[in-house]
Amino acid sequence: MTVDISPIPTPAAAPRCEPCAGVQLNWRRAPGHAELVQGSNRKEERDGRQVTVTRYRCDRCGQVWDYENDKTNLHAGWSVVRPRGPRA
Ligand SMILES: [Zn+2]
Repeated sequence: MTVDISPIPTPAAAPRCEPCAGVQLNWRRAPGHAELVQGSNRKEERDGRQVTVTRYRCDRCGQVWDYENDKTNLHAGWSVVRPRGPRA
């Protein structure tokens, strides 16, 4: 008797909507989408320089995004903000 444990297809990491899924990650000057609502700015340090990171939230699916504006880094751009670990 064999138990068939088929791998469960991995769904998209977050319940993102179609426009969110189309956002190009980690690419400088990639556009977001129309339903992203701009939130607060913050400064972060990258190798001794300050860059501005802007927080966005998708009005459609609630996905939270950061956009890092670093002129010297072609791969700074959109990143998905994952919720912090499980709440205690
Ligand atoms: Zn979305």
